[in-house]
Amino acid sequence: MAVDIQSVQARLQALRKQIEHHNHRYYVLDDPEVSDGEYDALMRELQALEAEHPELQDPDSPTQRVGAGPLAAFGTVEHAVPMLSLSNTFSKEELRAWYERNMVRRLGRDATGFVLEPKIDGLAVSLTYRDGRLAVGATRGNGLVGEDVTANIRTIRSVPLVLADAVTSAPGPRRARVPPELIEVRGEVYLSRTAFNKINEERMAAGLPLFANPRNCAAGSLRQLDPRITATRPLDIFVYALGQVSENEPRSHWQALEWFRELGFRTNPYNRRCETIDEVVEQCAAWQERRESLEYEIDGVVVKLDNLDDQRELGAVGREPRWATAYKFPPTQATTRLLDIGVNVGRTGSLNPFAILEPVQIGGVTVKLASLHNDEDIRRKDIRVGDWVLVQRAGEVIPQVVGPVLSRRPPDAVPWTLPETCPVCGSPVVKLEGESMARCTGRLVCRAQLWETFKHWVSRGAMDIDGLGEKLLSSLMNAGLVKTPADLYGLTKDRLLGLERMGDKSADNILRSIEASKQRPLPRLIFALGIRHVGDQAAVLLTGHFGSLDALMAASETEIQAVEGIGPKIASSIVDYVADEGNRAQIERLRQAGLRFEHERAASREGQLSGLTFVVTGRLARATRGEIEARIKSLGGQVADAVTRKTDYLIVGEDAGSKLKKAESLGTKVLTEDDFEALLANPP
Ligand SMILES: [Zn+2]
Repeated sequence: MAVDIQSVQARLQALRKQIEHHNHRYYVLDDPEVSDGEYDALMRELQALEAEHPELQDPDSPTQRVGAGPLAAFGTVEHAVPMLSLSNTFSKEELRAWYERNMVRRLGRDATGFVLEPKIDGLAVSLTYRDGRLAVGATRGNGLVGEDVTANIRTIRSVPLVLADAVTSAPGPRRARVPPELIEVRGEVYLSRTAFNKINEERMAAGLPLFANPRNCAAGSLRQLDPRITATRPLDIFVYALGQVSENEPRSHWQALEWFRELGFRTNPYNRRCETIDEVVEQCAAWQERRESLEYEIDGVVVKLDNLDDQRELGAVGREPRWATAYKFPPTQATTRLLDIGVNVGRTGSLNPFAILEPVQIGGVTVKLASLHNDEDIRRKDIRVGDWVLVQRAGEVIPQVVGPVLSRRPPDAVPWTLPETCPVCGSPVVKLEGESMARCTGRLVCRAQLWETFKHWVSRGAMDIDGLGEKLLSSLMNAGLVKTPADLYGLTKDRLLGLERMGDKSADNILRSIEASKQRPLPRLIFALGIRHVGDQAAVLLTGHFGSLDALMAASETEIQAVEGIGPKIASSIVDYVADEGNRAQIERLRQAGLRFEHERAASREGQLSGLTFVVTGRLARATRGEIEARIKSLGGQVADAVTRKTDYLIVGEDAGSKLKKAESLGTKVLTEDDFEALLANPP
């Protein structure tokens, strides 16, 4: 068959260019222009054409990101310009001292103009492009010689295989229309927290050892001899430095970053230019506050003097440049001794082991207790009482034991076994097949479970009973006035006044709060019941489908599972819950008390939000984020994590951060919770 080879070639080139363009929109700019389906169709067409015409194959085609088989070993790469390391500063004072020592004394003047970049906790790499094509990707190694990981680097979607040749209208001197003959850039390869957690979950399921942190995981993934494994790990990159370039050298670092973006590289959107050292100090402190809000881990802020001539004048001392420093945050990990393992009993009877530690300072806080997840985890990681353990503390979450330091294991360290009876009520402990948690079977006699059940019942996302704090709950339980949540609705003023330190007015207030809680909508009640696996989102979905508690209770496992968004775990847990006589009795008493068992359908109707995409952010006052998202989905709308051009509405609560900014810059419509209610009442 005579095929016009030239037209095939043209089509191939057009497809490759188009796909790379969409890759760039998706992976670098986080702002896709086409749906996944459209993208896949282009990719399939390209694959088919290339298969038909192997002679027209191109190593930089987007189909060629994942190379063939594994390597025997990595080659070495000598860095043309050494990859320096950074000096560290640990306080505002040290940061100012760094400035005094270098800028003021060496340059003999108050230098201005700094660039601040979040210091990503990943792996530094160098990328060399010849004639606009990725030629070599290397690890930092010892700074002079690294490993050749080109095949693995190619699998990272945000690394361009071919540089863009268009020049945007960026300010600064006019630059050439084509990429330089040679350019080497440096950046940090990293994994997002989500990707890291997912990889560890999969490894846990497969019985493989876990990665201690995203940095280890990223390093392990990049230094895989088999690029096909690397390709399965969603590695990402931020490019932050120029190694060498053959022409058009920028004047400042800020200009270099801008140029990188024009060439198609991904740079960190939070990079920022500051004028004075005072501003730098202030910004570094601000970063420490919001480090937890990022999708990836950062361990500090890199401060660089912007002017490249000044950089050259200052030079380096040993391997550390004088013109840059890393402002490091307090560490989030430390090692200490595991003195003992205790056990808490949760709301659903789960036995949660926790670590009792020799007190240790982590990030300015003394840590004495840490989570150990479950007994399976303890066994798999082989954590023993007496071990030295690595403890991690991040933000507001409970500190966690990452694992034992095996090289320091004392000979008398003792393996741990789960108690056979509940440490609170003495009931037998069972472990069901397929579950990682062991449970106490004394549901209605276990004080620990009842206590947690109450706390959940009164909580904000559930029945939201104002004024019923832990102290009062505990007095009520101790006085024998309440045993289960239904008992709350039988409380009288006389009984309350019988409690110590209970005044007339407080008693009235509490009764009023309890009374008000009867009006909570059905999803809140379903959530408050504390059925295992039934969270706030599931409660909304179930309500939307069944419309009443009675209909839900009458439903079969198959019927429940047929509800969109409800899995088999939830379905079987609901059926088990309903089968229990004690639970049914409790529900009857709640009905007698006058709680709302029916769903009142507002003006909203099915599908009224179809075709619309929402993003929810910030602290909400009326509902949890999960509830709002579930409502949107139940009305046919889509919920996304990030604001892009495809977002129709951003719903904001208090303290909305970067998403609000993004929405404002894109002109996305922003709704408060009230606006959202109004939208439902009066759909677009
Ligand atoms: Zn118990």
